[in-house]
Amino acid sequence: MRLPWVFFFGILLSCQLIDAQAPKKNTSSDIFHSIQKLNFLGSALYIAAHPDDENTRLISYLSNEVKAKTAYLSLTRGDGGQNLIGSELRELLGVLRTQELLAARRIDGGEQFFTRANDFGYSKHPNETLKIWNKEAVLSDVIWIIRNFKPDVVINRFDHRSPGSTHGHHTSSAMLSFEAFDLANNPNMYPEQLKSTDVWQPKRLFFNTSWWFYGSEDKFQKADKSKMIDLDVGVYYPLRGVSNNEIASLASSQHLCQGFGRLATRGSENEYIELLKGVLPNNKSDIFDGINTTWSRVEGGEAVGKILYEIESNFDFAQPSKHLPQLIEGYKAILQIKDEHWKKIKKQELEDIIQSVCGLYLEATAAESNTYPGSNIAIDIEALNRSNADINLISVSTSTDNLINKKLALKENKKELFQININVPNNKDYTSPYWLNNKGTTGMYTVKDQNLIGKPETPNAFELNFEMEFNGFTINIKKPIVYRYSKPEKGEIYQPFEILPEATASFKDKVIIFANSEPKEIPVTIKALKDNVKGELQLCFGKGWKVDQEIKPFEIAKKGDQRILNFLLTPPSTEDENYISPIIKVDGKEISKELIEISYDHIPKQSVLMPSETKVVRLNINKNGENIGYINGAGDEIPESLKQIGYKVDKIDPTTIQAGSLAKFDAIVVGIRAYNVVDELKFKQRYLLDYVKEGGNLIVQYNTAGRNGLDMDNLAPYPLSISRDRVTDETSKVNILAKTHALVNYPNKITQNDFNGWVQERGLYFPDEWSKEFTPILSMNDEGEPALSGSLLVAPYGKGNYIYTGLSFFRELPAGVTGAYRLFANLLSLKQETQK
Ligand SMILES: [Zn+2]
Repeated sequence: MRLPWVFFFGILLSCQLIDAQAPKKNTSSDIFHSIQKLNFLGSALYIAAHPDDENTRLISYLSNEVKAKTAYLSLTRGDGGQNLIGSELRELLGVLRTQELLAARRIDGGEQFFTRANDFGYSKHPNETLKIWNKEAVLSDVIWIIRNFKPDVVINRFDHRSPGSTHGHHTSSAMLSFEAFDLANNPNMYPEQLKSTDVWQPKRLFFNTSWWFYGSEDKFQKADKSKMIDLDVGVYYPLRGVSNNEIASLASSQHLCQGFGRLATRGSENEYIELLKGVLPNNKSDIFDGINTTWSRVEGGEAVGKILYEIESNFDFAQPSKHLPQLIEGYKAILQIKDEHWKKIKKQELEDIIQSVCGLYLEATAAESNTYPGSNIAIDIEALNRSNADINLISVSTSTDNLINKKLALKENKKELFQININVPNNKDYTSPYWLNNKGTTGMYTVKDQNLIGKPETPNAFELNFEMEFNGFTINIKKPIVYRYSKPEKGEIYQPFEILPEATASFKDKVIIFANSEPKEIPVTIKALKDNVKGELQLCFGKGWKVDQEIKPFEIAKKGDQRILNFLLTPPSTEDENYISPIIKVDGKEISKELIEISYDHIPKQSVLMPSETKVVRLNINKNGENIGYINGAGDEIPESLKQIGYKVDKIDPTTIQAGSLAKFDAIVVGIRAYNVVDELKFKQRYLLDYVKEGGNLIVQYNTAGRNGLDMDNLAPYPLSISRDRVTDETSKVNILAKTHALVNYPNKITQNDFNGWVQERGLYFPDEWSKEFTPILSMNDEGEPALSGSLLVAPYGKGNYIYTGLSFFRELPAGVTGAYRLFANLLSLKQETQK
């Protein structure tokens, strides 16, 4: 083989980052890599629980060095985490992280799968995880993915033998993989799946171990490695001008919402994988050792190999189109092989290679980024053959309509442009993440179509079929319809083309609290997604609630414009939790969705249609004090929640804190992880403690303890040590220890009922030791664990009070949990109580 253009190829990797959706433009080096992969018939599946669990070094090594078909199965989409780059949380964070995984795979060359399991938040033990997930359903999904992907080797990120030592989701992923390895081959397991796939037995199961599973590098050095394979994943790829580790770092740097941007590394680096099931390879540096990964693996494959190995050995980097006749012969030979699994994969791979060697550019672009069911849209087609190969375009069709039928000879570098029209069927589905279309449970998404399960994202709204003739031989090439435009400051941008409703409606707030019986004005924003939308908006509400005018007309002239309609909503006189939702009635259709757009440079733009609804809460709450000072930490929505119940909340900029500047506040609240993320605060802590001494009321929410604890000795006026103790079960029983303390009596009497309806968890990073000045108010525990009494601690100091709490108010208040509001009002009111 000849390798003349070695130096140009590193550029490609960085270009992919700029536009996540642009069609990939293959260099000769990319084509050669694809041919090497075409000639490797083996596959590996990596299994873990979350976006970012995956070892991109190993995935990239398997895909790029070994040339295996490689995939990562992340059981969840990572909805339960934090977001460092934007406001998306929960389902929307799951959509963002799904796309970050896909961005990582575009770089390391892997594929991506998911199960229906929902990342419901931190879980201490797989027993809890597998109770909240539907274990049978997740196991069935893992088996479904193994049966479809048919991996020769499966690699677990986590150890199935050490429950309790890491996140319960992690251990569960390994346990389910361990079980699925054999069950995938059992026809009695989930037999309904066998209507559309067959049983499969992977050959080997590994655990991707590391010294940190052993506690120290020292211990790992001494560990028995007789069942371990040692892979040097630091290889260099001269055709691309990068090391495997550089690709891996760039891939994992796509997890930007988790703050994973990191430096690239180079040089030799080892990965250890321990055999759990199957036969140990003789060659301890080849996980496929003993598995036939050549064309002779499949019946009829030898004929294919004869043609395609020859191309690999004599690849012409300067003129790849020279190989077209052989590639067509290879394609014909692939059509003859018996193995339907490999036939489908290799056919697709070869179709891509055939287009690439000819520099064939086929693109279908819509004039707008979205349209609606029942519309007619114009699509521009660009067809260009950048080689001297004999290529004709025969027809273009959708799955239902033949759009154009004329033989068009594509002459070398002569662009063909033409327009076609597509009727969007009235019953066409909207484009939105498929796993959010139906209401799920805490632990599971609901997906009704078995064939969607496992897929990373909703398939393209429209795919066009281009019937092409290469040297007189017909090959059908599928292309999605895309939207492209340019921005002066960014250049060309590609977006998915989407089917969306004619209009959508949304509320500003997801929870609205009524602290008394006064009505509130509720603004509803209608967004037009086509020109001239005219219709009515109806506000639906629950029993006991009243609205000034239930149905209001609206008219919007231009697509993209918005209109706000205000409804006056009066709550009932007694405590109540309810939901309100808008229904748009337009052209005889009813639409009750809101549209959320997720837009970042490193992922394709995402449109998410969610049920439009807001929780409305009539709360019986007493409160004292009025002026609250809030010091932001890592970001929470508590200030907005406090404003909703009538507090005046001022954000305090820590740089402005000085002696006496805080006296005007009835209480000061420190946001979550403030001391972890705001360095300035450590220098201003003495003023906060002085504020307490002078009669102030300071409420500090959770901070995390690092390896050596929080690096400050005056977090509280008295010694207090933060631990990693947490109570993750949001329904766990709470005992009131200090029954007569003001915090549970004034101005609201706190009872067991106030701990009903909490979300996600009780609290986290509770102190585990405190000095005698503190009074613990509550105790609680997860099932089977000792009671923890550090969730809410209070100590008088000078004339004031200091409160430290790891209770998850930052989750409960924005979720409209009434008991959490009442308890928090008591925390804020403590100063007034002690000064009575
Ligand atoms: Zn994880």
